[in-house]
Amino acid sequence: MTRSSAWTAPGCHLGCGLLIYAKDGKVERVEGDPDNPYNQGRLCPRCLAVDDIVNHEKRIIYPLKRDLADRGKDKWQRISWDEALDTIERRFKEYKEKYGAESVVFLQGTGRDIAPYITRLAWSFGSPNYAFSLSNVACFGPRIFAANMLAGVFMVADYGQQFIDRYDNPQYKNPGLVAVWGNNAVVANSDGAYGHWVTDVLQRGAKLLVIDPRLTWLAAHADLWLQIRPGSDGALALGMANVMIQEKLYDEQFVQDWCFGFKKFAALCAEWTPERVAEVCWVEAGDVVAAARLFASSAPVMVQQGVAIDQREDCYDASRAILSLLAITGNIEKPGTMVVMPEFLKYITGWGRDLLPYEQEDKRIGADDLVVYKLGLHVASINKMIDHLIEQPAAYPLKASWLQTVNLIACGAVDNERTHAAFSGLEFNVAVDLFMTPTAMAFCDLFLPVTTFTERDGIRCGDNSQRGETINAAVPPRGECRSDMEINLELGRRFNATAWPWENVGEMFSHIFAESGMDFYQVQATAPSYLPFEYEKFLSGKMRADGKPGFPTPSGKLELFSKSLEFMGLDPLPRYVEPPMTPFSQPELAQEYPLVLQTGARRHNTFHSENRQSSRLRAMHPEPTVMIHPETAANLGVRDGQWVWVEGPVGLTGRVARAKRLAEVTPIVDPRCASADHGWWRPEADPENLYDVNELNINNLISWSTGLTGIGANYKCILCKIYPVKENE
Ligand code: SF4
Repeated sequence: MTRSSAWTAPGCHLGCGLLIYAKDGKVERVEGDPDNPYNQGRLCPRCLAVDDIVNHEKRIIYPLKRDLADRGKDKWQRISWDEALDTIERRFKEYKEKYGAESVVFLQGTGRDIAPYITRLAWSFGSPNYAFSLSNVACFGPRIFAANMLAGVFMVADYGQQFIDRYDNPQYKNPGLVAVWGNNAVVANSDGAYGHWVTDVLQRGAKLLVIDPRLTWLAAHADLWLQIRPGSDGALALGMANVMIQEKLYDEQFVQDWCFGFKKFAALCAEWTPERVAEVCWVEAGDVVAAARLFASSAPVMVQQGVAIDQREDCYDASRAILSLLAITGNIEKPGTMVVMPEFLKYITGWGRDLLPYEQEDKRIGADDLVVYKLGLHVASINKMIDHLIEQPAAYPLKASWLQTVNLIACGAVDNERTHAAFSGLEFNVAVDLFMTPTAMAFCDLFLPVTTFTERDGIRCGDNSQRGETINAAVPPRGECRSDMEINLELGRRFNATAWPWENVGEMFSHIFAESGMDFYQVQATAPSYLPFEYEKFLSGKMRADGKPGFPTPSGKLELFSKSLEFMGLDPLPRYVEPPMTPFSQPELAQEYPLVLQTGARRHNTFHSENRQSSRLRAMHPEPTVMIHPETAANLGVRDGQWVWVEGPVGLTGRVARAKRLAEVTPIVDPRCASADHGWWRPEADPENLYDVNELNINNLISWSTGLTGIGANYKCILCKIYPVKENE
């Protein structure tokens, strides 16, 4: 048995502690580690069935290449690692010499501990064009950006995860209320928050407020559930703040001492009467008042915010409005509220930033016209990159891509037709992954096979849970698979030897851990390691570089009116703006496409486009579905379990797209809405039909629009209609 933690790949956001049982070099089963404070022995089905993935017969275990003319065809040939790496080195260097390092783009999916090695590879190569695969970084990034605009730092709900003894730590206080906002927490296990922590604090007496368009398991157990219209969260938050201000339920002393711009914020909120909120958000006016009163009277309060808030265009204002509720009620940095987690290591947020030459930084795609990308985000805009790939301006050619554990056209990317066309235009695409994917099959020329987390060492840290932990190899790699870190170290040395001075990954990991005062092997022996933690750091001067009390914002306070956003030329107040594809903003389109569609519904058995190879996991949810209300289904003549088309406009492109789904007729959705899961492809289907991805991908209905800021995309609020699939379709 090997004690380890689970991180990419296959992966999720959390890295739970687990016990890997192996025999004769093969993973036999996995259990939750009862001694790991993080998950305390619990695991979700994905890790319980990870042996299916590790041992799967369709794992790619040798490097492969394919001729350019054979893209889309299953005509791969096995090659040696030397040939693979020599080819990549030669071609990337040629492009760099002829067209500049920016002509090679580096993309990642949600791979957690892989990210630092991808950023270092891109930036040490000299390319500023490192990007995430999903439209407008519409996951987590908007929340972080919003928190930084309000508080100068990111904050998370306090479940005692910073203490080795968790809820029993004498400093910890259970929240009086947890507000779960746009998060199916117990299914999603979203960034840094294990879903069952919500049930832990409920069992210890917290009340529960749920804001969600669907009656999730948590909503069914809530003291109050508001079935909000998808995408209207910001309006609800402003309306709740208005009730708190009108009824003087907020913390006047805290506001006076620690909030900036309260009067202007209050004036904005005053526009949001409960009646107006009811109309915009499709909730009862009385429930807006009740939610505000519950929130304001239940201190300590924390918000478990989900990706739904990140997934509408220009969404950071909704996050700021929600954080403002916490600010004006003083639920910041106290036990059981929202706290800043000092992280064991900081490298995770972008390792190698210093290696990118200054003149290259200015060439980052998106940085010229998306002000937030220039001043806040250090990634390239994939939305602009797609435009760029299609248009191929002579002054800025793009030639090659590095796609590391990213299944673009089955998962985070949108508008498959455009994405496929964009990457097909590149001369050389490299995939680094566990399995052959629709993305690699569609347009990659070289495939490098990687190990799963059970077959390699690694570092587990950061992600808002301050612990130093390692991933420990339990079995040898299958075939010739290599870890992502080994691959990037080897290539990095070929690109820029001084930036990658380590002989092996162990040395590299130890270098990363140096700031903690330990080397990799010491952390491995003592993990999990926790740092001391204190609350109310803004009182003791520990939040600001100058050591003075306050928050690291221009005013030193929580900025309800953001001076930073004002400086960027953006709205300093968290104003609600109607999303671009709703029945209110597009009343004419809504005549033909009357349902509000949310995509990305989480399932217990899958993580994005992963896990569909496991027969045990697949049995839990074998095919893609769309949830519709029984009344809606009856009106459409659709039965539960019937194949249907979900069809809608691809944003404002003028095109229409559709995706095939099994109807899941359920009262948990509003009759005016529909909800679909994402990441669908069939690994068992014809590779040359791209594993059915074009037929199944619900993101076909979403456009690559950037909005004003390039932060947040409309995954959760678009328009559609639903009709039965005909017999011959
Ligand atoms: S949340 Fe689930 S998949 Fe993620 S590490 Fe924990 S058990 Fe594994």
